[in-house]
Amino acid sequence: MIYGGIEAGGTKMICVIGDENGRILDRMQIPTKTPEETMPLMTDYFKDKDIKALGIACFGPIDLNRDSKTYGYITSTPKLAWKNYDIVGAFKKELGVPIGFDTDVNGSLLGEITWGCAKDLTDALYLTIGTGVGGGVMAGGKLLHGMLHPELGHIKMAVADGDTYKGKCPYHGTCFEGMAAGPAIEDRWGKKAVELADDDKVWDLESTYIAQALCTYILTLSPQIIILGGGVMHQKQLFPLIRKKVLEQLNGYIVTKELKDIDNYIVPASLNDDQGIMGSIKLAMDADI
Ligand code: ADP
Ligand code: ZN
Repeated sequence: MIYGGIEAGGTKMICVIGDENGRILDRMQIPTKTPEETMPLMTDYFKDKDIKALGIACFGPIDLNRDSKTYGYITSTPKLAWKNYDIVGAFKKELGVPIGFDTDVNGSLLGEITWGCAKDLTDALYLTIGTGVGGGVMAGGKLLHGMLHPELGHIKMAVADGDTYKGKCPYHGTCFEGMAAGPAIEDRWGKKAVELADDDKVWDLESTYIAQALCTYILTLSPQIIILGGGVMHQKQLFPLIRKKVLEQLNGYIVTKELKDIDNYIVPASLNDDQGIMGSIKLAMDADI
């Protein structure tokens, strides 16, 4: 069986054809411009491929409430050309196949749960730290949506001692994303994150904020695994720092087999940056409308 998948991002759209084993058989990537420019290129790509269903793992915020009039819409995004855009409806009209739809981060989590390092777990967290910070959550075997969907990147941070940076989030200043996403690193230190690889103080502070956020998620969501992806997490030296600081900040309060084996609890994404598109194939496999 052949399925279509899209990882819809603010800067690029990745369209793939895959099978029920998560194997990617073909892929195409285009920049995200306006819907008028970008959508025809994507529908043309899928039109002659005989896909059984399409899965879209999409940047947000998006409307995932099946009872809502605007289900399947990209809603209040700062990417203005896509604001209030009915992306599911547009593909449905052109392709006439069932469409699975979820956030980009839930898509990545679904990829890891189905074919990656979170296989067979029921409670897991996928966090991306890139241009923004966002998280996908599976709780009790279900991807968490709730009122909207979690927005884990915008939780309040306790600012570290001596840190005077004002933060980069236009809504909250010093929230997690405002302190720790790639653009915040660049703004704070005056260089791109990748160029700061050898500067220990950068990653010491970065890991302090990431660990603080992870402790909040551990205490509120109780995940069985935490998977960290996104451009900033290509700095592998962050992992041991984050693990150490998580244990320090929890201060022995939680004792589980997972935390005792923290190297296998806080882990990098495992699917060579294909977790999002593989998750979109799984969204297609599970699509029922
Ligand atoms: P997006 O979040 O737009 O999908 P990425 O996950 O690649 O894309 O994140 C891009 C951000 O990650 C940029 O701010 C960039 O500076 C940062 N970044 C990308 N690669 C690296 C790297 N190797 N080390 C540190 N930061 C990186
Ligand atoms: Zn914020």
